[in-house]
This record gives sequence, structure tokens and C-alpha cells, in this order.
Amino acid sequence: MASKRALSKLLAEVRACEVCREHLPLGPRPVLSVGSSARLAIVGQAPGTRVHESGTPWDDDSGDHLRAWLGVDRELFSSVDLFAIVPMGFCYPGKRAGGDAPPRPECAPLWHARLFEQLPQLSTVLLVGQYAQAYYLGKSRKKTLTATVRAFEDYLPRYLPLPHPSWRSRIWMKKNPWFEAEVLPALRERVQLARGL
Ligand code: SF4
Repeated sequence: MASKRALSKLLAEVRACEVCREHLPLGPRPVLSVGSSARLAIVGQAPGTRVHESGTPWDDDSGDHLRAWLGVDRELFSSVDLFAIVPMGFCYPGKRAGGDAPPRPECAPLWHARLFEQLPQLSTVLLVGQYAQAYYLGKSRKKTLTATVRAFEDYLPRYLPLPHPSWRSRIWMKKNPWFEAEVLPALRERVQLARGL
């Protein structure tokens, strides 16, 4: 049964989680942001070092890019009544050749379903990047991330797949102009609907 009290209790459990401590170079520090009236969820990868330090989700260049895609400023983005920010891994997972390691695989199976149970007004889950899409779309994913994002209408209204908004996505957007022309307007429409506008 969803209630503010049940959600606070659950968030306290998440914040005390140490399940994969031995794999986390900077130790556990779950970074997420969830309110019981959230309309949209953002499921990204895992915090980088900057977000680990600040404790604020998407407090980096990728976050600026994501906010531009959504058409919202920092203040609106931080509204827990609008956005639930629930990455695939809540703690910084360390480095691997070429960048950050993937989100810890223990995290989403342990927490996501329990958190989403507490969000009865959720309309759409934004699946940001390959890990979120693999977990939530499973076999209904297309062969590539580009093809999955291009087929975004197949997954609405529950899911909307997006690329990860890193610097690489800027090059990707140039090669795939349909993203700006078709996907971003649909994304902003979901935001407007969620705001009741
Ligand atoms: S990544 Fe997830 S499962 Fe691992 S310690 Fe952090 S909250 Fe717990």
C-alpha cells in the first residue's frame, strides 16, 4: 500500500544499504530522489564522481543536457512531485576501461519494484541509456540503442527510451536529426502532461 510513511521508511532502508559495499571504490552513497506524487521517473545509469560528492542527482554536464531535452530548469527538475530519479545503480560503481563502470547489477532488482510500488501516479518511465532499456524493455528492445530510441512510440505511454545525454550524444544527435524533430517534442509533451499543462 503506497503512503508517504511507507516511502520514507523504504528510502531510509535504501540510504542504509551496503549490499555491494565491497565493489564500491568510494563506499556506499545512494543518490536518488523520490516523492510519492511523482508523475515521471528517470532511470539512468549510476552516479559519477561529481554526483557522488554532491549527493544531487544529475548534478553534472549530462544533467544539464538532460534538462535541456526535457525543457525544464534545475528547480523544476528537482521537484520530487514531478520527477522520481531512480538510476539503475544508486552508488558510484568505479571506473572501467574507457569510463565509469556499469551500474552494480544488485541494485535495480533489489530496490526498483519496491520503489515504483510507492509511486501510484507515475505515468511514464524515461529509460536513459542502454542499462535501463535492457532491464525494462528486455526482448522488446530493438537491435541497437538508436533503433530502440527511434521506435519510442512502441513503448509509450509506460516507457520512453532515450540515449544517455553525455557529450557523445551530441555527436549522435547530429547523425540522427529525427531525435530532435520527433523524440524531444514527444518527451516535452510527456513533461507538460505530467505538470497538468
Ligand atoms: S549500489 Fe545499490 S545495492 Fe549497492 S550498496 Fe548502493 S544502494 Fe545498495
